[in-house]
Amino acid sequence: MFKDIHFLISGYCYAHGRILAAGLPWTKLRIPAISAVLISENGDITLIDTGYSSRFLDITQHFPEKLYAWVTPVEIAQQDSVKEQLKRLGYGSEKVKNIIVTHFHGDHTGGLLDFPMARFYCSERAWYFAKSLTGFQAVKNAILKAQIPQDFEERAVLIPDSEFTISLKDVEPLHSFAAIFEDHKLYGIKLEGHAVGQMGVLVELQDKRRILMVADACWLSRSFQQNAFPSALTKLFVADYACMTQNISWLYALHQKHSDIYIVPFHCQEAIRDFQKI
Ligand SMILES: [Zn+2]
Repeated sequence: MFKDIHFLISGYCYAHGRILAAGLPWTKLRIPAISAVLISENGDITLIDTGYSSRFLDITQHFPEKLYAWVTPVEIAQQDSVKEQLKRLGYGSEKVKNIIVTHFHGDHTGGLLDFPMARFYCSERAWYFAKSLTGFQAVKNAILKAQIPQDFEERAVLIPDSEFTISLKDVEPLHSFAAIFEDHKLYGIKLEGHAVGQMGVLVELQDKRRILMVADACWLSRSFQQNAFPSALTKLFVADYACMTQNISWLYALHQKHSDIYIVPFHCQEAIRDFQKI
């Protein structure tokens, strides 16, 4: 089992509160891009997503990628990449053995090229969808192909839909889990809606804490705490709005029933700030 977890912020983007969750005002919020670092007993590292890196700034200098940076203004500093932060924590890139990619949006794949020794894990649907898109279609779906290693598929374990069939105890009403590292009590969970093939990750640490990283199934903790949906305007860019709101209702029910499971949306500053306290 994993002995510890850290959450890293590798940059920020700006978005209107009311777009992200019902009940918030129409003011602009500074939204972090979060990745998780799971540490094994032997010091090996498993990452959940790799956030932003300064590659985003280079790639979005040109069309069509420039459109991405126009729609989503960002704040990225080189020293904040996952690779640089890991170095400061005392971990070289070679320590990163596994990277679970929740989905292929550009704010989750920025550091994939920084870890040449890593094996990738993602849903088969997410990968084949991302792979099928090029040019403007890729950018329209928030996918920056230049951030994805050329040898991604050779290094990847693609999890087919047929493996998301496990039901776990005390996680209702969520279902559709897939065992990724069963001996480490780490499972993928199908959380489509925000992006095609998106998955979240449930992990139980050595000290028995259970953490559910929901990627972008919702953007803020407020959504699963109050069943607060994103604005219907997000239908313009999420893959399936009805599926996204269904997932939020399930996360709300899960939170009501199993408050011991710590839920982390990957763009919620409060979620990781409050996690440091528990
Ligand atoms: Zn995101």
